[in-house]
Amino acid sequence: MPSHPCTADEVKPPSEGQLARWENGKLIVPDNPIVAYFKGDGTGPEIVEEAIKVVNAAVDKAYGGTRRIVWWETVAGEEAQKECNALLPEGTLQAFRLARINLKGPLTTPVGGGYRSLNVSLRMILDLYSNVRPIKWYGQPTPHCHPDKVDWVVFRENTEDVYAGIEWPWNSPEAQKVREFLKKEFGIELTPDTGIGIKPISKWKTQRHVRRAMEWAIRNHYRYVTIMHKGNIMKYTEGAFREWAYELILNEFRDYVVTEDEVNNKYGGNAPEGKIIVNDRIADNMLQQIITRPAEYNVIVTPNLNGDYISDEANALLGGIGMAAGLDIGDGIAVAEPVHGSAPKYAGQHKVNPNAEILSAAYLISDFMGWVEVRPLIEYAIRQAIANKQVTYDLAREMGGIKPLLNTEYTDVLVDYIRHADLKEVLAQARH
Ligand code: NAP
Repeated sequence: MPSHPCTADEVKPPSEGQLARWENGKLIVPDNPIVAYFKGDGTGPEIVEEAIKVVNAAVDKAYGGTRRIVWWETVAGEEAQKECNALLPEGTLQAFRLARINLKGPLTTPVGGGYRSLNVSLRMILDLYSNVRPIKWYGQPTPHCHPDKVDWVVFRENTEDVYAGIEWPWNSPEAQKVREFLKKEFGIELTPDTGIGIKPISKWKTQRHVRRAMEWAIRNHYRYVTIMHKGNIMKYTEGAFREWAYELILNEFRDYVVTEDEVNNKYGGNAPEGKIIVNDRIADNMLQQIITRPAEYNVIVTPNLNGDYISDEANALLGGIGMAAGLDIGDGIAVAEPVHGSAPKYAGQHKVNPNAEILSAAYLISDFMGWVEVRPLIEYAIRQAIANKQVTYDLAREMGGIKPLLNTEYTDVLVDYIRHADLKEVLAQARH
């Protein structure tokens, strides 16, 4: 008998916890919330276990036993294939829907045609329409010249754009039909060796995404929100994204913002204190700006493809994949996941950096679930560990002359910093 829910009928939340509820656009969280998770493939199990250990320590420290997370284990990937004969079982999806607050380890996607990434499927099925990638410096080695000025959050639309999967190979009957249609209806002639892809970007999907980005910016007291687009070329998709983003922001968040044009034309170049400055940048310029003027950007809100490019660039600039956290959010549901994959060649060696998984979980618990004391404690511990050169192999390799810690040893170090932290001081220091 499988020990995890394979079908929707087998789903039974743990009795010692309570499910969070979504009411009138607000997440209602009990003191013993159920958080569903799966460990994933390759190195996933080891980093997810370490993330849970560190989050539990931070929750204990912050709330002294008055609050506690009840972790609900499910399966996906190779383990699910063995237990449930499905890579992404309906029982797991249903548990994630019910729990609303979810954590996942990376999943392996076999290379080859006809196989959709499980990660993409999960985002689509649960309609996790905003991918959030916070990028910050914790003292790790970095190629950026001014990492101390970096405090970015890339908000990438997750469901549309060229990622919608509407495409046909050049030699398919569908591509031929589309070419014929274009010729007949619009006089557009494409050569017969042309593959076809469609780039859908809609108003309501753009605006629900931008709304989440604005809420994040307001909650975290950020100074800048920037719309990244290639609207000068793709006028009716990316150009429309820019237009709809401004429209939503000015309709729903007028009291919180000034536009860059208003700063220049109305306020003589000096933005009023306490207002978020909203601007937009063409994608190629944006990719340079985060290198040359890092302090002038915070929340960067983008369609799908731009978000993919800039979040990878930003993470590389700030010290690599072992530190790169991510959160996928929808209406009253979130799944936290690191940016990196399952790194299968290191599986079972307990050497990969668990920080990306730990930080993803920290954002889930503080920024989505609302236990805001947890992330600052975890971030403090990570900063302390890096400052004292207590790191895993990837950062040790860059620092030179350091004996790397196993990830189990590393999280022991984090837990120790958390237990001995001055909570008041840590929270006072944490701007975000
Ligand atoms: P990967 O798993 O991200 O690993 C590539 C390299 O990145 C590793 O060899 C390692 O570099 C470094 N790395 C990854 N995770 C790290 C960590 N926690 N700490 C330190 N370094 C880390 O990418 P991949 O090898 O291309 O993909 C493996 C599988 O994962 C594929 O099946 C892919 O489809 C899947 N994948 C899943 C997700 C997801 O679940 N969201 C995302 C991406 C890829 P060094 O060897 O140089 O140290």
